Amino acid sequence: MESVKSTYEQLQTENDELRFLLEEANDTIEAIRSGQVDALVVKGDEGHQLYTLKTADQTYRVFIEKMNEGAVTLNREGIILYSNSRFASMVNEPLEKVIGIHFDVFIAEVSAGKYKEVIKDGWNNDCKGEILLSSLEGKLTPCLLSCTTLDLDEGTALSLILTDLTSQKETEWELKIKNDQLEEAQNIAERLNNELEDTVRERTSDLLISREHFKLLANNIPQMTWTNLPGGEVNFYNQRWFDYTGLRYGETAGWGWQQIVHPDDLQRTLDVYLDSLKTGKVFELENRYLRWDNTYRWHLNRAVPLRDDTGEILFWVGTATDIEEQKKQLDLKDEFIGVASHELKTPLTSLKGYLQLISVYKREEVPPMIKQYVEKASGALNKLQRLVNDLLDVSKIHAGRLEYVMAEVNLSELISLTLENAVHLYPEFEFINLSKSEFFIEGNAGRLEQVLVNLINNSVKYSTDNKKIIIKTEQNNKKVRVSVTDFGIGMSAEQIDHIFERFYRVEDKKFMASGLGMGLYISAEIINNHKGSIGVVSELGEGATFYFELPLLEK
Ligand code: ADP
Repeated sequence: MESVKSTYEQLQTENDELRFLLEEANDTIEAIRSGQVDALVVKGDEGHQLYTLKTADQTYRVFIEKMNEGAVTLNREGIILYSNSRFASMVNEPLEKVIGIHFDVFIAEVSAGKYKEVIKDGWNNDCKGEILLSSLEGKLTPCLLSCTTLDLDEGTALSLILTDLTSQKETEWELKIKNDQLEEAQNIAERLNNELEDTVRERTSDLLISREHFKLLANNIPQMTWTNLPGGEVNFYNQRWFDYTGLRYGETAGWGWQQIVHPDDLQRTLDVYLDSLKTGKVFELENRYLRWDNTYRWHLNRAVPLRDDTGEILFWVGTATDIEEQKKQLDLKDEFIGVASHELKTPLTSLKGYLQLISVYKREEVPPMIKQYVEKASGALNKLQRLVNDLLDVSKIHAGRLEYVMAEVNLSELISLTLENAVHLYPEFEFINLSKSEFFIEGNAGRLEQVLVNLINNSVKYSTDNKKIIIKTEQNNKKVRVSVTDFGIGMSAEQIDHIFERFYRVEDKKFMASGLGMGLYISAEIINNHKGSIGVVSELGEGATFYFELPLLEK
C-alpha cells in the first residue's frame, strides 16, 4: 500500500510539476506569439541548449532572403557560413558556390585595406565602412558594409550586411556631374558677369570721358553749339550760347530758340531747319541771333545728323559761328566793288568810244600795225568791260537791284545765236547743237544769253585735250532743260557744293584759268529770277554737264 501511496504522492508531485511546465509552456507560447522571445535555452542531458524557434527562424529567413541587402555570416577565419541570395547575385555566383568560401575573394583589391580595418573592429563593436565588392570576374559593386557579431551555439560569428550603393553612387555621380556642370555654368556666369561689369565700367568711364571731352570741347570752342532731337527739339546748348543770349536753358530749350532769331530771318530759318529734319540733309544757313545787349549778329549755322548702325538719326549736332565781322568785311568789299565798278565804267565807255573813233579814222591811211594794235586794244577792252559788268552785276545782286524786263524769248534761237558767236570766238572747238524743237519761255534774252555765254566760256576754259562741247535742249515736263557738256577737268562733289557761291574758285595749282569766280554766281541768280533751277553733273577728270531748267511758256 505504501508503494501505492508513494506512487500517488509521486504522481501528485509529477502532476503538479507537469502543470507548472504546462503553464510555463503556455507562457512561452504566449511570449513567442507576442514576439517577446525568439529563442529558448532548454536544459537537456548535455546541459543547456539553445533552440531558435522554427517559426521565428523561418520569418527571419524569409525576411533576410527578401532583403534588398546582401547578408552573410562569417566565422573567425572569414569563411562564409551563410549567405542570402541577394549577396550571391551581387557577386554574380550561385548561392551554393558562395557558402563555404573565403569572403576576402569578393573584396576588390583597392578596398582590401579598408575591409580589413572594418572587419577587425567588427569583431569588437558594430561598425560600418564603404568598400568595393568584386565578383570573381571582376565586376565591381560599391557597398556599405555593416558588421555586427552574432553569438551562435557554434561560437561567435560575424554578420555582414552589404548595402548596394551603385544607384546611390550613380545618383551621387550624376549629382556630381550636375554639380560640376552647375559650378561650370556658375563660373561662366560669373566670368560673363565680371566681363560685363568690366565692360560696363569701361564704357561708363569711356562715356564719362567722352561726355567730359564733349562738354570741354563744347564749352571751349568759339562757336555756339547745340544738339537737337530728330523731331527738332533742342536738348543741349553749350555755355557760349547762354553767355551770348543771356537766357537760361529753359527759356530757349525745345523750340524756344525761335524768339532770338531775327524776325526777317525766322521763316527762312524754319523752312531750312524743317527741310533738314525731314530729309536728313546737312542744315546750313545764315541768320541773325539776338545778343543779350539787344543787338543782332549774323551767324552761320551748320548741323549734321548723328546716325546709329541702322542709319536712323539719333540726334543732330549744330554749331552757330559768328560771321558778323566777315559779313561787314564782305559788305565793305561789295560796297567797294559797287563804287569801283561804277567808277571804272565811265572811263571804260570813253576809252571804247575813242578806240572806235580811231578804228573808223578815214582822213589818211592808218598804218596796218596801228590797226592791229587798235584791234588788240578793243579785244582787251571788251574783256575788261565784261569783268566790270560782272562786278557791277554782283554788287547789284547783293543790293537786290538786279532788275530786268521780261518778254517772250525764243530759247532755241537764242542758243543758235550764242553758239554762232562761240564758234567765231573759239575756232579750235567743235560745238555740237543737239537742240531740235523750238522752245519759248518768258524771260530776259540779254540775261539768259549771259548765262549761256558763261557756261560755254567755262566749258572752253576748263577743257584740256578734248575740244568738243555739246549743247542740248529738251523738254522735261512743263520745263525746258538746256545743258552744256564738256570733256574737260571736271569737279569733285566737294567743289560742286561751292561753285555757285560768290567769288568761289577751285584752287588747283595744276590748272588755273583766269576768272574771279563770279560767272556761276551771277548765272544762278539770273536763273533763280526766272523761277528756274541750275545745276551740274560732274566728276573730277570726267568733264562736266552744266544745265538750267526754265518753265515753258504756256501757249
Ligand atoms: P570763274 O571765273 O572762276 O570761271 P565761275 O563762277 O564761272 O568763275 O566758276 C566757278 C568755278 O567753278 C571755277 O573757278 C571752276 O573751278 C569751276 N568750274 C566752272 N565751270 C567748270 C567746268 N565746265 N569744268 C570744270 N570746272 C568748272
